[in-house]
Amino acid sequence: MNMIELTNLANTPLRGTLRHDVPMRKYTSWRAGGTVERMFQPADLDDLLVFLRGLPADEPLYAVGLGSNLLVRDGGLRGTILMLHGTLGGLHLEMDGSVYAEAGVPGAKLARFAALHNMQGAEFFAGIPGSLGGMLAMNAGCYGSETWEKVLRVQTVNRYGVVHIRTAADYEIGYRHVMRNKTQDARGKAQDSNLAPEASEFFIAAWMQFPRGDGESARQGIKALLGKRIASQPLNLPNAGSVFRNPPGDHAARLIEQCGLKGRQIGGAQVSEKHANFIVNTGTATAADIEDLIVKVQAVVEKQTGIRLHPEVRIVGEKK
Ligand SMILES: Cc1cc2nc3c(=O)[nH]c(=O)nc-3n(C[C@H](O)[C@H](O)[C@H](O)COP(=O)(O)OP(=O)(O)OC[C@H]3O[C@@H](n4cnc5c(N)ncnc54)[C@H](O)[C@@H]3O)c2cc1C
Repeated sequence: MNMIELTNLANTPLRGTLRHDVPMRKYTSWRAGGTVERMFQPADLDDLLVFLRGLPADEPLYAVGLGSNLLVRDGGLRGTILMLHGTLGGLHLEMDGSVYAEAGVPGAKLARFAALHNMQGAEFFAGIPGSLGGMLAMNAGCYGSETWEKVLRVQTVNRYGVVHIRTAADYEIGYRHVMRNKTQDARGKAQDSNLAPEASEFFIAAWMQFPRGDGESARQGIKALLGKRIASQPLNLPNAGSVFRNPPGDHAARLIEQCGLKGRQIGGAQVSEKHANFIVNTGTATAADIEDLIVKVQAVVEKQTGIRLHPEVRIVGEKK
């Protein structure tokens, strides 16, 4: 499939950018990994809808924001990535006082916007280097707050370009977990419309509500939170944040450290000395180095503690 076929199918010229064989190391915070066959960055929401309506039904499709929780294996990814960061950047206050933000808005911008409008409770978004779309997909959170606690409703689009408005009641939402409730297809068969990673629907925007507060204290909160992150996370090397979910009642970092895995290295991937639940790219890591190290950490922790750690990061594509 090439661009000409796509534009013909859509019957309306595309205004965004469609590129082929795009190295995903440039679009993921780990700065490692293979290429994706096609990447489409829409000019705006209408352009995204035109693109989707022209897309063959069997084309594998993924949405990507800031790539801060994503590893694309070295053999690459078949299909098309919808690159929503750098586009879908709408952010405004609605008449009812809620905040409308599109999927490409970075967490830090959302936090600053809420503080500017004297709202409280959005500060934690500043500590998550993702886009709103990725934060909705992951139910990202930190310091006791989570994305979906703030959501009134979301706007989604499916692979055919059909837009829906949904609320939290349409999803099963948990710790770093969001899944569409089981829906029924035309024959009444239950369909599992998992959002990740080959989603049947993508988030394109959300309406969120934050209580009124003092903008200056929210700004101070953001500053303090960023200070805490700099002190505790290895932000000088490419990483994807916490690699594993915390098991119930415990911390993955504590278990990894207890097993003596801090500093353990495979190729250019290393368990951070500063934060044991981070794997850093010391400069030459391949996606295979990172994935092998994830598997190694899992195996050692399970052997020594009996606890199976589950990755929080999303791994897609084919091995080389
Ligand atoms: C230094 C650092 C610190 C971090 N700290 C935290 C933290 O404190 N808390 C936390 O929760 N996370 C943290 N993370 C992880 C990451 O920032 C979050 O998971 C974030 O929500 C990912 O957003 P993204 O836009 O980068 O998503 P991506 O990495 O681009 O995508 C992640 C997943 O979401 C899917 N996705 C992306 N956009 C959409 C969309 N529009 N619709 C549907 N699916 C979509 C992708 O297909 C993929 O499966 C950290 C990462 C780093 C690098």
